[in-house]
Amino acid sequence: MMQSLNPATGERLETIATLDAAGIQARLAQADQAQKAWARTPVAERMPHLRAVARALREDKAELARLISLEMGKPLAEALGEVEKCAWNFDVYADAAPAMLGDDLVASAATDSRIVYDPLGLVLAVMPWNYPFWQVMRAAAPVLAGGNGLVLKHASNVPQCARAIEAVCARAGLPRGLVTTLLVGAAEVNGLIADARIAAVTFTGSTPVGRSLAAAAGQALKKQVLELGGSDPFIVLADADLAAAAAVGVKARFQNTGQSCIAAKRFIVEASVADRFVEAFVAATRQLVVGDPFDARSTQGSMARVNLRDELHQQVLASVSEGARLLTGGRPLPGPGAFYEPAVLDRVTPSMTVAREETFGPAAAIVRVRDAEEALAVANGTPFGLGAALWTADLQRAEGLTRRIEAGAVFVNGMVASDPRLPFGGIKASGYGRELGVLGLREFTNIKTVWTGPART
Ligand code: NAP
Repeated sequence: MMQSLNPATGERLETIATLDAAGIQARLAQADQAQKAWARTPVAERMPHLRAVARALREDKAELARLISLEMGKPLAEALGEVEKCAWNFDVYADAAPAMLGDDLVASAATDSRIVYDPLGLVLAVMPWNYPFWQVMRAAAPVLAGGNGLVLKHASNVPQCARAIEAVCARAGLPRGLVTTLLVGAAEVNGLIADARIAAVTFTGSTPVGRSLAAAAGQALKKQVLELGGSDPFIVLADADLAAAAAVGVKARFQNTGQSCIAAKRFIVEASVADRFVEAFVAATRQLVVGDPFDARSTQGSMARVNLRDELHQQVLASVSEGARLLTGGRPLPGPGAFYEPAVLDRVTPSMTVAREETFGPAAAIVRVRDAEEALAVANGTPFGLGAALWTADLQRAEGLTRRIEAGAVFVNGMVASDPRLPFGGIKASGYGRELGVLGLREFTNIKTVWTGPART
């Protein structure tokens, strides 16, 4: 059984039966059949289906966003934005995929030599709860555009969202089974990976689970893309626009109630401007309104589960005992729900808990550094390598610095964000492979060489 709980109230919304072995087999067989037919559908004919999914998402936006907020606690305005972004992603691929999937002629080869991008098959998507729609639809649009099918094993705390994803795709007219949700627990994942009908795996989630899933996929020799945890640096150099950096930094840390892989987690600030940055950052943090996700005044919702809130609190407490200064917040709010007062920790050093570990919730760590060189050393001194932000007025210098930051993306004078047109992914313990853009689409294609000699009669 799976429990759909409202983390803001603790209320049980629904108890949902998980699939048994026979149910899994039947649904996989249906998905396999649907994918085989879809793979034979010419690329141009797949695109109207992608547009239909975008349309259905927009039409159902209010209801889908309500489910997101209900099951994981984010403010409704953010949930509405999430569904809109999913629709945008489908539109972007509907526009761009035919060209991206077109044959590439290799002009220098002696005869007709080309690279073609064929479907791979069924892609198993093992997904987290933090953006219950975006994480799935980010993967789904390119997977489907490429002629593949998607089998979804979603996080167990968002089963209603998981069901709704399959339903909205069906309502849009996608062939039955092409997007299949399996309501199963984590224990079923390795069996699914090993199933001959699964061609590849895309995983978004924590680094430890990524390791074990990669081992299973490796054993089965299945292609995999891993989008794992992060501890993104947000570097503020002395010449930066401090007011803008602080305002954007607060958004970058506390958006989605701090539960984002690409949230800015470590604010690495040149000491000469640190007092001014910290003052503006703390003032903006205190403006955040923690409350009912369905109250339009709330800018911070509930965290997704009480245990996750408690883990974050332990990280904050440990860092304070290690010498960090708690400037604001840092308290679980009393009463039901998983609410947490947004915390700012100053005078953090790289060896403290909030700097060493990923903090997946509303807690910002400020590390003061001597200069840009030390900022880079601190930024790179982590097992993770997902995103990074760099704030400076000197764009020429920034160009050199961005090359030295170990991350899958660097945003200069902005916050890290995903965009369907740009590749997204990490290095080091943040994973490998890319989603989005042309590279994300080609991850789940068979990049096939076709060499044709002269006709022989
Ligand atoms: P998680 O615990 O790793 O769970 C993610 C998914 O893996 C869920 O569907 C979960 O199912 C499943 N799972 C858990 N244990 C498993 C196991 N032993 N074998 C196979 N599957 C297993 O992560 P989370 O707490 O949901 O998400 C937060 C993490 O995701 C953070 O580390 C965050 O940084 C990362 N994340 C990364 C990105 C990115 O793009 N790089 C984006 C978002 C989040 P159950 O729910 O049934 O356990």
